[in-house]
Amino acid sequence: MNEDTHVFYRNPFTTYPVIARGEGAYLFDTKGKRYLDACGGAVVSALGHNVPEVVEALKAQLDSVEFAHTSQFTNPPQEQLAELLAELSPGGLNHAYFVSGGSEAVESAIKMARAYWVQMGRPEKWMVIGREQSYHGNTLGALAAGGNRWRRALYEPMLYQRPRVSPCYCYRCPFDKDPAHCALECADDLERAILEVGPEKVSAFIAEPIVGATAGALVPHENYFRRIREICDRYDVLLIADEVMTGLGRCGTWFAIKQFGVVPDMICMAKGLAAGYVPIGATLVHNHIVDTFHNRRNVFQHGHTYMGHPLAAAAGVAVIKYMQQHKLVERSKKMGEELITRLREALHDHPHVGDIRGRGLFCGIEFVLDRATKHPFEPELAFHRILGETAFANGLIIYPMGGTLDGRRGDHVLIAPPFIITKAQIGRLVELLVKSIDATVA
Ligand code: PMP
Repeated sequence: MNEDTHVFYRNPFTTYPVIARGEGAYLFDTKGKRYLDACGGAVVSALGHNVPEVVEALKAQLDSVEFAHTSQFTNPPQEQLAELLAELSPGGLNHAYFVSGGSEAVESAIKMARAYWVQMGRPEKWMVIGREQSYHGNTLGALAAGGNRWRRALYEPMLYQRPRVSPCYCYRCPFDKDPAHCALECADDLERAILEVGPEKVSAFIAEPIVGATAGALVPHENYFRRIREICDRYDVLLIADEVMTGLGRCGTWFAIKQFGVVPDMICMAKGLAAGYVPIGATLVHNHIVDTFHNRRNVFQHGHTYMGHPLAAAAGVAVIKYMQQHKLVERSKKMGEELITRLREALHDHPHVGDIRGRGLFCGIEFVLDRATKHPFEPELAFHRILGETAFANGLIIYPMGGTLDGRRGDHVLIAPPFIITKAQIGRLVELLVKSIDATVA
């Protein structure tokens, strides 16, 4: 299949099995092999595969209309989805700008921040600052805000050179502090960066509430975001929460940022929003920003052909309703506790497991060569990659990532199964994972 076709594959050096069907927490390839989908590809499949209610909602929408451009029409599902999101999100984020994925949501937020400051008579405020060990998307604006060095490398110099800002990485505190007694030096690092650039040039700060792909479910200090909000307010900098991975129940609450006691100015979402049934993204925008765009001369000049697509919005509505009906956000919290307990029981004394962390069904495991010194594996070993491949061969899909520390060193995996996962399936997941780790280490 891979030899003589014209698909430009993600990785041309790999032969991919062919997907045949999905059911619940499982995927099946055309050879009949079954995979326990423990990360929905890249933290997408929140409901599991082939949920009849979502499939029916898509069919019903197709029966009425498949597409009408948003420059000419609105459509019922996008109105309904915006209402649902406004109800569920932290207060005041009442406007949903619909796009087709996470990068578009972030790109829209970056441009919206800039447009906002133009309306406010401060056009020199344009730079969006992000942190090291972060990822906000592959488009050039989002890439420049993020700190994933591996993805940035080929495209340097970036659209703009933002200052380096430390992540809140308690397992390896960049300031060598004990998190129980620290003074949140990592949060204050944002203030240093804003002052370095000049507050008059900074439009926004973007951060994932719990860092996903680049750091393996890094949960911040409980007061981190409160300090960040204070700093943003002090220097007139908007706060953008990138909830592309963490949003829609993944971390045990509808929005992860709610767990840290602040209301951001914008929230970017995608992935779990339509749970993989169709591509969708959204930027939730606070009233105080939208209010500045209500002058006919000052509309927000941006747009994508497929924004507000009726099918995408219909899937989003069906996903949220299904989650509400089956109390899946509560389930994500409960099963997440079960998962982390089982992982800790199975791996707490494993010589190469440095840290197990996360919230809800969003768990990360960081691997080390030496537990005592936290020394990482040599990058040439590609520990995370071999572990991911071994798990895949064993019928378990996880999300492996490397370069956690400095773009080269550091290995972790994300485990983020669908919320419908059962206790028995969690048991099987842990069993397959331990087997795969042991085979990788051997
Ligand atoms: N932000 C975060 C936090 C992400 O994890 C991702 C994707 N992994 C993106 C943005 C970009 O989303 P997409 O791949 O849908 O463009």
